[in-house]
Amino acid sequence: MKMSKMHLNTLREVPGEAEIPSHVLLLRGGMIRKLVSGVYGFMPLGLRSLRKIEEIVRQEMNAKGCQEIRMSAIQPAGLWMESGRWDAMGPEMWRLRDRHEREFCLGPTHEEIFTDIVRSEVSSYRQLPMNLYQIQTKYRDETRPRFGLMRSREFVMKDAYSFDRDIDGLDKSYGEMYDAYEKIFRRCGLVFRAVEADTGVMGGRDSHEFTALADVGESEIAWCPDCDMAATAERAEVNDAAPSSERELPLETVYTPGAKTIEEVSGYLDIPREKTIKALLFAVYEEKGRFREYVAAFIRGDRELNMTKLVNVLGVTEHMIVFADEEIMGAETGCVAGFTGPAGLRGCKIVVDSELTGQKNMCAGACKSDHHLLNVNYGRDYKADIEADLKRIREGDPCPLCGAPVRLARGVEVGQLFKLGTKYSESMGAYYKDENMKERLIVMGSYGIGVTRTLAAVVEQHHDEKGIVWPVSVAPYHAVIVVVKRDDKVQADLAEKLYRQLSARGVETLLDDREERAGVKFNDADLLGIPLRVTVGRSAVNGTVEYKLRRENENRELTADAAVEEAARLVREESHGAA
Ligand code: ATP
Ligand code: MG
Repeated sequence: MKMSKMHLNTLREVPGEAEIPSHVLLLRGGMIRKLVSGVYGFMPLGLRSLRKIEEIVRQEMNAKGCQEIRMSAIQPAGLWMESGRWDAMGPEMWRLRDRHEREFCLGPTHEEIFTDIVRSEVSSYRQLPMNLYQIQTKYRDETRPRFGLMRSREFVMKDAYSFDRDIDGLDKSYGEMYDAYEKIFRRCGLVFRAVEADTGVMGGRDSHEFTALADVGESEIAWCPDCDMAATAERAEVNDAAPSSERELPLETVYTPGAKTIEEVSGYLDIPREKTIKALLFAVYEEKGRFREYVAAFIRGDRELNMTKLVNVLGVTEHMIVFADEEIMGAETGCVAGFTGPAGLRGCKIVVDSELTGQKNMCAGACKSDHHLLNVNYGRDYKADIEADLKRIREGDPCPLCGAPVRLARGVEVGQLFKLGTKYSESMGAYYKDENMKERLIVMGSYGIGVTRTLAAVVEQHHDEKGIVWPVSVAPYHAVIVVVKRDDKVQADLAEKLYRQLSARGVETLLDDREERAGVKFNDADLLGIPLRVTVGRSAVNGTVEYKLRRENENRELTADAAVEEAARLVREESHGAA
């Protein structure tokens, strides 16, 4: 492609709303274009990179025998009612009505649609196992769309669904997808970790997330340097501190004026935070928005509550639970803002972190303004309706498997695998007949990759202060030829010749023949992150050019022929990624 003819609109300024490098650089490089919050279009260069990622995904899926199809984004509400997710999905689901007032959604995912396909088109064990996938646009009305393609409201996902005869089959299909995901993300040039994940609203048994490591990532993962433990921070188990051997002391009420937070109380009473109990108060609503109950959750004062663990033990989804208005809740339950403790509460569900049951003589709110209780003991002074691990893991906590200090890292969730089991085949009635003509439930898995998010994650991991540094495998073009003086015939002719030769050798090449100063062209080439730059300048009279890789600082003087050979080798070795 000749850049004088290409539609390219690079920006000098950093767009105001962009906070992270990938968002800034994709916008500045004119690769994506914002329409409204969380909705982006792809411009020529951005689209080429997106296509490359899609193609890597497609090749690795096909290599596992998966079959590509494409379903529509519009989905009838009825299927979601069958699975029970029409209400469970909450406000994130983009809902619409047709002219006959029939309800639809724009698919946030496609389990229901694919289950519908197999229940009507698969009947015999002979048709299983099977894995169908698509690379398709998804819609989620996210609470906080941000970071450009990272969390958008319209995005491209690869979603695959496996259908097996039994659990063993599912385990095998899941393993194949896990393997494919490792290949895909490696080929895209990402540094990533596969971690155990929560299954959330998907239901099912096992799940893994593939997380591209990045400081700006919204996912936190916990991993053990000494063993295999790796999990999302949401999912990671936290061991309880050893139970206390203290003797139980008599309950005592103390005056703690204005000491509402754990810091204030522990400071005022001069006791460590580990000896206090933190209260978190919630209101839970039915899926249809009707009030269900109040929940008071208690953890040790130095801990953070893990919201995912709480919603899981309550059996609700995140949009069904909100922080309670303590004034209103107080009238019914006796809680007092800043002074709530587990002893003396009524009329609400009490969820207690398992660790607290072993701790003795704790300090907790007295459910009375400006007062706390000392020597609060589980069993004697309060009881739980639910006892469970509610703790959020911290750096240095002992690994739940081996005890070594756990490490935390941040990253971007680029893909997730779920063992769905029979959740959808049961609710929607997807059966097959086995060898004995007996009806059995189809066993399912579902496997997503955020294709547009992967593109952003690649940029997040591959950039410097000048711009993007694309890995060859997903670069929009492999090489750019910069002509220093385009009205110098020798330079123009050599550039043209190189352009033809490179293209003929499979090197996807841009010819920067724009009427711009060389400096502008160099800056654009750096911003756009094209892996190889060949500069045709004054030494063209000697038949030599400057050969420079974007990821390296040095450049080399090569003959035009040698440059073509080198470029062809680069593309041959790296265009399929480092698989
Ligand atoms: P998240 O926790 O980040 O909201 P999710 O767990 O809800 O994501 P899945 O349902 O597992 O997402 O979807 C499969 C993949 O789709 C994710 O691994 C992610 O890469 C991508 N994805 C999900 N939501 C978005 C979004 N709003 N924008 C871009 N990609 C997304
Ligand atoms: Mg996910």
